[in-house]
Amino acid sequence: METQDDLYIEQLLCGPMQNFVYLVGSKRTREVALVDPAWAIDPLLERIDEKGLTLKAVLVTHYHPDHCGGHMMGQEIEGVAALLERKGVKIYINKHEADGLRKVTGVSESDLERVDSEDALTLGDVEIRFLHTPGHTPGSQCFLARNALVSGDTLFVRSCGRVDLPGSDPAQLHQSLRQLAGLPEQTVLYPGHHYSEESQSTIGQELATNPYLRVPTEEMWRELMGY
Ligand SMILES: [Zn+2]
Repeated sequence: METQDDLYIEQLLCGPMQNFVYLVGSKRTREVALVDPAWAIDPLLERIDEKGLTLKAVLVTHYHPDHCGGHMMGQEIEGVAALLERKGVKIYINKHEADGLRKVTGVSESDLERVDSEDALTLGDVEIRFLHTPGHTPGSQCFLARNALVSGDTLFVRSCGRVDLPGSDPAQLHQSLRQLAGLPEQTVLYPGHHYSEESQSTIGQELATNPYLRVPTEEMWRELMGY
């Protein structure tokens, strides 16, 4: 029987850039995926042990080192490469982001599952759907599990991801946000950073308060974003 109740989701604040790492999976089977593991891998694995969970997969929203590890702003951030030294799991990455992830983290092709929009991973009774949401980066993806949307740097509480970085595309981000705006209003938003006072929200709340989520035309979007 499919019930909302089987969804396990836990939000963990990690590192100096206010990143959110997530555990998403099944309460029944205790199988989970780690979303965007970075900054300190051992404490994340200890958390999984402490809770009696089994790590089955790593899901990466996009290839920026604060989400997956690598070299950024003069420092080496621990991430998926360190995790794979300890756990034999696959990294689920959008096919448009996979080469970038390899370059940034040094993982090999055999460590990856290149996924497409609408592919899914099932843990227990919980299906985690991959949604390609380009704009912040070419292969950014969000994860939709039951009524939970893990949105990476595509959509934040009251704001959205930057589009002034290499590989960013403001017009694509607009399309991706239009897609997310069409999700049921009760969908719970779990963002990639703690950039607002609130650590989570809902699509309904964001439609009412987030100026970036409710721009109907590209012309209005260009005006808002100034490009
Ligand atoms: Zn980013």
